[in-house]
Amino acid sequence: MSPVVIAHRGASGYLPEHTLEAKVLAYGLGADFIEQDVIATRDGVLIVLHDAYLDFVTDAEERFPERRRSDGRIYAMDLDLDEIRSLRVHERRRPGSSEPVFPDRFPRKLMEFRISTFDEELRLIQGLNHSTGRDVGVYPEIKDPALHAEKNIDLAHLLLTMLEDFGYRSREDNVFVQCFDAGELRRVREELGTDLKLTQLLADDDPMGPEALGTIAEYADGVGLPYSSLIRESPGSVSGMEGSGLSEEIHDAGLVVHPYTFRRDRTPAYAESFDALLAFFYEVVRVDGLFCDHPDDAVRIRDALRLDSG
Ligand code: CA
Repeated sequence: MSPVVIAHRGASGYLPEHTLEAKVLAYGLGADFIEQDVIATRDGVLIVLHDAYLDFVTDAEERFPERRRSDGRIYAMDLDLDEIRSLRVHERRRPGSSEPVFPDRFPRKLMEFRISTFDEELRLIQGLNHSTGRDVGVYPEIKDPALHAEKNIDLAHLLLTMLEDFGYRSREDNVFVQCFDAGELRRVREELGTDLKLTQLLADDDPMGPEALGTIAEYADGVGLPYSSLIRESPGSVSGMEGSGLSEEIHDAGLVVHPYTFRRDRTPAYAESFDALLAFFYEVVRVDGLFCDHPDDAVRIRDALRLDSG
């Protein structure tokens, strides 16, 4: 199987993350999967948004200042869908500043973008699959399940129900469901009883040895983890990197490895170029897929390599 390109929040290198515009572009640029971060509104509608709060990618602070929580942030789960739909979305800015996180990306205030629902995004992707004859997959993340549970919202259940309504039901269907919360992802498999492929997300400080991987393999099909954990810097070598051995351990546990997040405008200094970084992960680390803000680059580099299957 050729490694898959997962468009991280859509083609977020070119258009504001998680907008339908970014998803259409990701589709057109040849992504194999398009990612959704899924959270719920106060009235229980699933929307696609990276953070539980609205602060850094919308004008919520100007529109609904009275809805701030004690931590100073405005949470999507405290607003109804109608209110959220009235917000304007822009390129992500830095906390406490109007400066964009990625200065060379889509200019703020040049265009108006909106938050969309999970339902709209699934309809968009399935419609494009119909009209193009392709089969681009979806890669939804259950975000902050414990925070939703405080509001009596069973986010995982709502998400699985909607996927089922759209025909995503079995291991063969073109979907991975991802979550950082290991207890929740195990519940998705064992209590909610899904057959869908599951990806356990890991952060830098999570255990990643054989024992932890064996536990994950009891309920999940893959792991998503920072790409830096799969390599070591190797200043003397041609690539500037060497594999850490973790990718092999993940495969030995029977799991696929989908590292995050490759960004052309965040290429680490140890890599010769973004292209070289991607090529190293395809050819040497032997990833099964990767999350990328620039799906066109990830597709182009992959397709230029002759990767052995196996
Ligand atoms: Ca995500």
